[in-house]
Amino acid sequence: MAPDRPYRIAVVGFGMAGATSAYLLAKAGHAVTLFERAPVVGAVGAGILLQMSGQAILRHLGVLDSVLAHAAPLEELHAIHVGGRELVRNRYGLYAEGCRAYGLHRGVLFETLKTLVESVPVTVDLGVEIDGRISNADSTVDLTDTAGNRRGPFDFIVCGDGARSRLRGALGSRHYSWKYGHGTLWAITPGCGVRGKLFQVVRGTRNLCGLVPMGDGLTTLYWGVPKSEYAGVLARGIGPLKDEIVRFCPEARDCAEHLVDFDQFLFTTYQHNYMARRFDRTIVFLGDAAHAMSPHLGQGINLAMVDAWVLAGAIADAPTPLEAFRLFERRQRGYQRYYSAVTLMLSPFFQSDWPMLGWGRDRVLPLLPKIPFVRRQMLMTVAGLKGGFLKGERAF
Ligand SMILES: Cc1cc2nc3c(=O)[nH]c(=O)nc-3n(C[C@H](O)[C@H](O)[C@H](O)COP(=O)(O)OP(=O)(O)OC[C@H]3O[C@@H](n4cnc5c(N)ncnc54)[C@H](O)[C@@H]3O)c2cc1C
Repeated sequence: MAPDRPYRIAVVGFGMAGATSAYLLAKAGHAVTLFERAPVVGAVGAGILLQMSGQAILRHLGVLDSVLAHAAPLEELHAIHVGGRELVRNRYGLYAEGCRAYGLHRGVLFETLKTLVESVPVTVDLGVEIDGRISNADSTVDLTDTAGNRRGPFDFIVCGDGARSRLRGALGSRHYSWKYGHGTLWAITPGCGVRGKLFQVVRGTRNLCGLVPMGDGLTTLYWGVPKSEYAGVLARGIGPLKDEIVRFCPEARDCAEHLVDFDQFLFTTYQHNYMARRFDRTIVFLGDAAHAMSPHLGQGINLAMVDAWVLAGAIADAPTPLEAFRLFERRQRGYQRYYSAVTLMLSPFFQSDWPMLGWGRDRVLPLLPKIPFVRRQMLMTVAGLKGGFLKGERAF
């Protein structure tokens, strides 16, 4: 049963989840106000992987072709050891014809979603950092911001304020964040190095270098760095870093030649978020705010958009916000928990201070794709299509 009136909705965070939600909910006729702490929003970030799940959502939004015009098709995920021995080679096409990922600049996706938001009546409030909520006697809710203002009233809040969410504490439900000890330097450069695949070189669990072709003649180069060593990398300077990258991964030479300054790099650290419950009567969490994870499985952007799509569907199908949130949880929880768990389990095998995990990975990972059932599950997973732990392919 559909709601009997349009809702007044606050969306917090103009990221992938927030932008997709704001667009879908305003398009459905709700009165949407979108709050974003940054005074200006734009094309920031590095290369991302658009998986089959994310492609399906963009197709529903009618913008897939315009995004793909600036993306590079990736037919496989290919990882080798430093020196050339193969670690794993996952070809998407072995899962199904036409199955592939795309590499693209995060900014391309963001600008597309921003244009969608601008095409519907959404009130966008930039430069507003939301820090709390206040429940009103009439069951509506207000938001407070760091400048001391109170904003509202709203029927409910859609919270997409990212991995370091301030509002998570407002829910009063159990939630944990694990911070990883390793981070990654990312740089976008002209040149290619490799085509048609995400290419990664590893040594144990401490060294990792990768190339993601992105479309428009650009490539993202990434280089794993333990957080404790980042200051040392900066102190040694850009020249030694470039030399180390090219020695480690000769395919990166083309891209590394364009690096002259550390300003070209973005250093990111990651955390894994878990929320025991991600809604109550007046707030629901989605995207990284609810389930941030490391980028090792390349799912974050895709999960954020799937969350927004499923939430908008649930709001359209349920008579009250609370019932909509329950429906959202039922439709999305198994899927999201699967991806959170697999990413949490996988990440230390690629970046951690536990060399034994690298030793085990090097022996087991090359064997897994040789078992047809396991290969299929692996490919379904990286494509963003696996419905849950004991589930098969999810339809979007
Ligand atoms: C370097 C890197 C590489 C990645 N690679 C991939 C990849 O290949 N594939 C993939 O799918 N994912 C990738 N991810 C993950 C992906 O970027 C995130 O999962 C995705 O952006 C999550 O979207 P979101 O909307 O939940 O959060 P975000 O995109 O982080 O958006 C949150 C927004 O909320 C705003 N905000 C925060 N706090 C407040 C507040 N208190 N009040 C108001 N506004 C607030 C922020 O300014 C931001 O605009 C990568 C992440 C990183 C860091």
